[in-house]
Amino acid sequence: MERTPLLLHACCGPCSLEPVRLLREEGFEPTICWSNPNIQPVAEHDLRLATLKRWAKDVAHVEVVVAGDDRAAWERVVAPHGFDRAARCRACYALRLAEACRVAREQGFERISTTLAVSPYQLFDTCGEVLGKLARSHGLTPVWRDFRPHYPDATTRSRELGMYRQNYCGCRFSAAEAAIERHEARDARKAAKAAAHAG
Ligand code: SF4
Repeated sequence: MERTPLLLHACCGPCSLEPVRLLREEGFEPTICWSNPNIQPVAEHDLRLATLKRWAKDVAHVEVVVAGDDRAAWERVVAPHGFDRAARCRACYALRLAEACRVAREQGFERISTTLAVSPYQLFDTCGEVLGKLARSHGLTPVWRDFRPHYPDATTRSRELGMYRQNYCGCRFSAAEAAIERHEARDARKAAKAAAHAG
């Protein structure tokens, strides 16, 4: 079957598993585009990219295009939003997806998608809106799918494959937010235990 080429912006290896599988099932042939200047520190960025590349080459047999990672631009247009997550993530999606759209145009793709649509931790509607606007302004067709129901499968499969799995989205703000959430969850579990013992 002749598949339809599509440029798939990927945020990391584990989040690419299900979108690549599902898009292929739909008749697309994804080429992955990496543009993630949001990932901090640099060692973490490099580890996620290496994890993605290894899986793409050895398991999925999908090409990876490493596009621009403009960390200075991220600091300029995203970081000033600080802990305002809605504004910060919108700006972060826009920066990364604009670069992916630029690459899609440059390489002759007509369709674009993103693996950001698999994680329930992302701002799904915001991301879809940003992708749609950017794709259209670049003359591309956005392929926006709700991959979130497949997130548990992605977790299981990436564990089975022994892939590195991060526990925060990428930026320093998300690392702090995730640490706070983990502490809050631990405190809630402790409080529940104490209440059960008291009862
Ligand atoms: S939480 Fe994730 S999407 Fe939002 S700004 Fe940070 S790295 Fe970007």
